[in-house]
Amino acid sequence: MQKKRSYSELVQRYRHAADSIGASLTTIGEFQTPSGSYEIHQMRLVCGDGRQRVCISTGMHGNEPAGPEALIEGLAELGRRRDELNADFLIYPCDNPTGYELDLRENWAGLDLNREFAREGQADEIAIVESSLAGKCFDLTYDLHEDYEMRGMYLYERARDGGPPAAESMIAALRAAGYPVHEGDIIDGRPASGGIILPSGRPPEEDGRFAAGLPKALYMWREGSRHLITTESPGLLPLGERVEMQMVCFNVMLDTLARGCFLPKEADSDTQKDTR
Ligand SMILES: [Zn+2]
Repeated sequence: MQKKRSYSELVQRYRHAADSIGASLTTIGEFQTPSGSYEIHQMRLVCGDGRQRVCISTGMHGNEPAGPEALIEGLAELGRRRDELNADFLIYPCDNPTGYELDLRENWAGLDLNREFAREGQADEIAIVESSLAGKCFDLTYDLHEDYEMRGMYLYERARDGGPPAAESMIAALRAAGYPVHEGDIIDGRPASGGIILPSGRPPEEDGRFAAGLPKALYMWREGSRHLITTESPGLLPLGERVEMQMVCFNVMLDTLARGCFLPKEADSDTQKDTR
């Protein structure tokens, strides 16, 4: 298979971005493929006393490059705004290195890694990522994705106790900046309104679509994360525009953290132990 991008170059760019803001970048595991071995990385940045626990992930689907590109800009933004943020960021910059290189949704072996969580015999990449998440839960789980069929952006949001809503503010900021929002009543087979997929009433881990294995966000929900946001930038638009749209949402996410919107409630602190 023909490589379209270089994972090692991407990691170099992440390393440079992490160094310049004082974030750590560590290798959490290595896996083998017929064309060689690959490492998976994690970044960490603690701002203030780190009371809002945030997990940011991207690069799960290799044909969605706006996520990793936006994250590089996002790291610079984190560095600029660190004094106003009271948050502990754990960042997964690329969970699917071979998909990234091959410009494939799946990994080198044809597996959709976002259906490999909480599953026997899971892909090596996800065994590494899942074990690194053991015992951790988050106040906010933020995943950057793309939808290659779309011309407008949409978001998925699920909050354990009904709030604080952030997706509506992201959509409003996109509209204010003149970017297109996907207006369908059904997105990806689920009811939607104003560019936001509405969660169904049942727990997501009971959704039959994921009987074989869970997506990362739903795995983290099952493990106790309080709030999920997934951004889906429209793959039919030029890459530069998609990165800008991701950044509009990323900045709104930072705004909500700066306001302390995801601070854990005192009552939760005993039940949400984090061994990180
Ligand atoms: Zn995706």
